[in-house]
Amino acid sequence: MSKNNHEFLITRKNNHYEVVIGLEVHAQIKSNSKLFSSSSTKFGAEPNTQVSLVDAAFPGMLPVINEFCVKQAIKTGIGLKAKINNKSVFDRKNYFYADLPQGYQISQYKHPIVGEGKVILDMPYGQKEIGIERLHLEQDAGKSIHDIDPENTLVDLNRSGVALMEIVSKPDLSSPEEVNIYIKKLRSIMRYLGTCDGNMQEGSLRADVNVSVKKKGEEKLGTRCEIKNVNSIKFMQMAIIYEANRQVDLLEEEKTIDQETRLFDTKKNETRSMRSKEDAHDYRYFPDPDLLPLEVTNDFIDSIKLEIPELPDEKKKRFIEKFKLTPYEATILVSDIETSKYFEEVTNNSDIKLATNWITGELFALLNEKNLEISESPISSRNLSKLINLIKNGTISGKIAKTVFEIMTHEDKDPEAIVKEKDLKQESNPKELEKLIDKIINDNQDKVKEYKAGKDKLFGFFVGQIMKVSGGKANPKLVNEILKDKLSR
Ligand code: ADP
Ligand code: MG
Repeated sequence: MSKNNHEFLITRKNNHYEVVIGLEVHAQIKSNSKLFSSSSTKFGAEPNTQVSLVDAAFPGMLPVINEFCVKQAIKTGIGLKAKINNKSVFDRKNYFYADLPQGYQISQYKHPIVGEGKVILDMPYGQKEIGIERLHLEQDAGKSIHDIDPENTLVDLNRSGVALMEIVSKPDLSSPEEVNIYIKKLRSIMRYLGTCDGNMQEGSLRADVNVSVKKKGEEKLGTRCEIKNVNSIKFMQMAIIYEANRQVDLLEEEKTIDQETRLFDTKKNETRSMRSKEDAHDYRYFPDPDLLPLEVTNDFIDSIKLEIPELPDEKKKRFIEKFKLTPYEATILVSDIETSKYFEEVTNNSDIKLATNWITGELFALLNEKNLEISESPISSRNLSKLINLIKNGTISGKIAKTVFEIMTHEDKDPEAIVKEKDLKQESNPKELEKLIDKIINDNQDKVKEYKAGKDKLFGFFVGQIMKVSGGKANPKLVNEILKDKLSR
């Protein structure tokens, strides 16, 4: 792919426009309790069963910071190679909404806990660095439910007060595909760290998507629109494409783009205006008087650094150096922490090349087909590594291995036992093979003549026949050698 292919261009008449995207990702912190209360965060509970006085904003309640959530945010910051701020401040962001009993959201504003960092994207055209502007801590709001009661809107406060990390990128993303890879990379890093489960169906990861367009090559960024609260990668991409086209159309008609907040309607595949900059909320931010500024010492940060596991970028580098994988193979194998663990378990005592091929080929196809995570794999790493060893030491051929693999998908059984039970062991005894080969040669004298007269293609026919009468068990390498020898006599 060409170097310039990463730009997402929209063309109208003689003009080329490029898209500029910045994301504000809301990632729910993996934590048993909420940011300022001890209520459970467990997903899927009965409405309003996980609500403390703090979450319901009863008069006189006092928020108490959850140290674990602070640690999780710092961990994530370290994973984003970002600056951790020793001092950060919680503000009140004031607005009225039915699902916000306090009448304000506690959120870090001017002084976030994490400053500038970066995320590396592996794109087909090379690596691209996306700048991180900041990461701050905030509480989630409750949920308004419109589709249970025909007359009333109901409110579920279970989510009220759950800890979020808002991760703000620089406007460095240039295409829907980069957004796809960016979200996946962020999610991968947070799953490695155990700081966010990244489950988009459950709303653990969602984003405000800022989109602007400009004429190709122009320095100055265009006016952006912010599309609120998009909860799947697919919808983010659809919203960007719709929004970029809408903005380009406006520019082509020599109209101006208003900076506004928009909604993405997933059914109609369009964005619609929610509010414009002019009536932008004045949130009247001020430091929350119930909470002291959050101070973390360097010792505290250093102690968290000790808990940081090997992250995807470093693991990829090691896989390439230690296992001689291609960057492509390494990227696939490290993208999910469970996959990388599985791979290392398999290669612990079996051939790396074979393991790479079997995991990225047969196993991934199987998981895909059954829609399973690798942690739910019907075949354990131990048994896959045994299967690979059977191929490597010549007990079975690659072809027979596929049969054994197929049996293993139904029952995670020791492949050696399967080979024994089904009598699948490869025939590598030259004497036995010679018998088979002689028979095929005798039975096909006419073809032998043709072969000797120069019809080389027939070699494959003989091999095929021999494999067939052996039930696929003849050692193909030996068959080739012996057959060649016999036919040349
Ligand atoms: P706000 O707090 O008003 O939303 P920020 O400066 O925090 O504003 O920016 C929010 C997001 O908008 C960031 O992710 C940033 O990268 C992105 N952004 C800023 N300018 C543009 C632009 N011209 N086009 C696209 N995205 C932009
Ligand atoms: Mg914003």
